[in-house]
Amino acid sequence: MIRIAMIAHDGKKADMVSFVLKNKELFKTAQLYATSTTGTFLEKAGFTVTKLLSGPVGGDAQIAAKVATGELDFVFFFRDPLYRHPHEPDVQMLMRMCDVHNIPLATNPAAAEFLLKGMIADEDTDI
Ligand code: PGA
Repeated sequence: MIRIAMIAHDGKKADMVSFVLKNKELFKTAQLYATSTTGTFLEKAGFTVTKLLSGPVGGDAQIAAKVATGELDFVFFFRDPLYRHPHEPDVQMLMRMCDVHNIPLATNPAAAEFLLKGMIADEDTDI
């Protein structure tokens, strides 16, 4: 089962939910992790998700730690670039961990669409 982390800043949560619903066949079969509020949105959309802390109080850092310890296969991070975030250092750290450990990371809806297409096309992806 593929292991996916979902994170969406407040201004992007609606985009994230519509993306996941549009691709629900894949996301229903994945093991989902999310920061707390993002996870609540996913639950309301009908998905089972392991919720971590909210982003500003450590959720992004928890996801970064899971990337570092090999517990995640993909990260979808719908970032809002037009808003200041108190946890920007954690955001940077999460993106760095994805780069260090070569974990595919999408940070906007267009990249998320392409990453998803790659996941589906990848014969080795167990979905
Ligand atoms: P949230 O955190 O899902 O708890 O809103 C996301 C974030 O801001 O990193």
